[in-house]
Amino acid sequence: MSSEESLSWEFLKDVADALDSYRIRALIDAKQDILDTGIYDESQYEAILLQMFDQERLKYSLFNFFSNSSNNNFNTIKEFSTQNSIEVYHTLSLLDLLKNEKLVSVEELYDKIKSHEDDPDTLIFKDLSISITKEDISNLKPIYEPVKVIFDSKNCSGCGLCASICPVNCLHIYNGFGKIDEDKCIRCGLCYFVCPRTYLPVKVINMAQENTPEIKDYSNVGHFLEAYSARTKIKEISEICQDGGISSTCLHYLLEKNKIDFALGAKMSNTLWRPEPILLKNKEDILSTAGTKYVNNPNLQLLNQNELKNKKIAVVGVPCQMQAILKSEIYDIGLPSLNNIIYKIGIFCMESFSYESLLKICEKLNVDVNDAKKMDINKGKFFVYTKNGDELNVPIKEISHLAREDCEMCYDLTSESADISIGSIGSPSGWNTVLIRTEKGKILYNDLISNNLIESKPLEGVKPGLPLLQRIAGSKKNNCKKHINSRLEENKRVPNY
Ligand code: SF4
Ligand code: SF4
Ligand code: SF4
Repeated sequence: MSSEESLSWEFLKDVADALDSYRIRALIDAKQDILDTGIYDESQYEAILLQMFDQERLKYSLFNFFSNSSNNNFNTIKEFSTQNSIEVYHTLSLLDLLKNEKLVSVEELYDKIKSHEDDPDTLIFKDLSISITKEDISNLKPIYEPVKVIFDSKNCSGCGLCASICPVNCLHIYNGFGKIDEDKCIRCGLCYFVCPRTYLPVKVINMAQENTPEIKDYSNVGHFLEAYSARTKIKEISEICQDGGISSTCLHYLLEKNKIDFALGAKMSNTLWRPEPILLKNKEDILSTAGTKYVNNPNLQLLNQNELKNKKIAVVGVPCQMQAILKSEIYDIGLPSLNNIIYKIGIFCMESFSYESLLKICEKLNVDVNDAKKMDINKGKFFVYTKNGDELNVPIKEISHLAREDCEMCYDLTSESADISIGSIGSPSGWNTVLIRTEKGKILYNDLISNNLIESKPLEGVKPGLPLLQRIAGSKKNNCKKHINSRLEENKRVPNY
C-alpha cells in the first residue's frame, strides 16, 4: 500500500469513528425536531453538525495517532498539531476529551524547584506520559448525558449556557437551578459538551489565553498581560457604581463606538436583590446594572435571543460564565450564538448565594432586604449598607455555609477566562483592580485611556495590590481542592478540571 493510500485509509477510519459517534448520530437523527424548534435554521444546523463532526474526527484521529506509536508524550502532541495545522492547546483540549471519555490516561511530569522559606515550590513542566487505556474503541463511544447529572449532583453553577444552546429548547434555568424536559430532549449531549462543570481543561484555558504552545504552571490569578488599578471618569457611572465602575465604562465605550450591538449583563428584577439577565443596548441600560449582586444569575441563558442573531456581543459575567464561553471557543463547535461574542468582561467572584440564602443573611443582620442599598464582601466580611445610612456586617466564616454548594467547587476568583477581569480586591475603596489577559482586552483598555474615560495606574505601585489578590485567589483554589477531595471521599460527582 502506498503512503497516500495508507493516509487515505487512516482518514476514512477517523471519519468512520466520528460518524459512529453518539453525539453526531443524535444530531443527524433529530434534524427535523431541531428545525421545527426554530432555535437554529437549516444553515446553522448544518454548520454545527459539520463542526461537531470535524472535532469528533480530529479527536479520534488523535486517538489513532497514539495507537500507532509506542511512546506517547508531549512531543507526540506537538507532532499531531503540526501535521493537522492546529494549535498545540487545541490538541491538548482533544486529549482532555479523550481523558474525560476514559480512552487515555495522562500523567503530567514536573520538576520541583525548592523555594525560599514560606513560598510555595515552583513547578517546571517536564513532559506528559500518555497511555491508551483500551485498544479497541468501537464499543467505548461515550453516550453523552444531558446536564441533568450536573443539576442533580449540585455541580451546576447556573451559568445558563446549556439553556441557550440546546437545539430543541428543552432546558431552562430558574433561580440558579436547571430543569430538563426529558420528553423533548434528543440526547445530543451539546449541553454536556459546553458545560464548565462536566469537564474543563483548566491548563488549556490559560494556554489559550496566552496563545502559547508551552505547558506551564500559572499563578493563582491565571495568565495576564498587565495589571492596573482604575476608576471611571464618567460622572453618571461614578455616582452609582460599586467600586471603580470600569466594567460599566467598558460597555459604555463599546456601545457608543458601535464596537458591539448588545451587551449581556444582570440587573435587579422587580424582586429587589434577585437579579435577572438583561440585554443592554444603551447607557440607561448600563446604569440599571450597576452594583454587585450576590445572587446567582444565568446571564448566558439570553444568548439564544432572536434579536442577537448576527449581532456583536460583549458578555459581562462571573468566572464560571467566562469559563463556559472560553471552553466552547476552544472546542470550536460553531454554535452561532457563541460566535457572536466579541468581548468577555469577567468580574471577580468569591461565592454566590441563592436568593433564599441572601434573605437568611439579611435576617441574621436584622435588616429587611428591601432596605438594603448596597452589598459588598471586603476584608473577610459581608457588608450590607442600608438606605438609612447604616453599615452592617457579618464575618464571611459565619455565612459561608449559606453559599451555593457548587461555588465550593469553584477554583477561579478572578475570571481567568475573560479578556479583561475586573474586581475590587487589591485596590483602595472607589477603585477597581483590572487584569488585562488578552490582546483584545489590552486594546479595549488602552482605548478607555486614550478616550479619557478612566484614570489608571499600574497595580504594582498600589496597596494592597497584587500580593493580596494572589493570596485570596490562592485560598479560593485551596478551598476548592479541599471540597473536591472531600466530595470524592463521599463518592460524590465533581467537575473534571
Ligand atoms: S438537554 Fe442537552 S442533551 Fe438534551 S437536547 Fe438539550 S442540549 Fe441536547
Ligand atoms: S454549569 Fe452552566 S452549562 Fe453547566 S449545567 Fe449549569 S447552567 Fe448548564
Ligand atoms: S463562585 Fe464560581 S461558581 Fe460560584 S458564582 Fe462565582 S464564579 Fe460561579
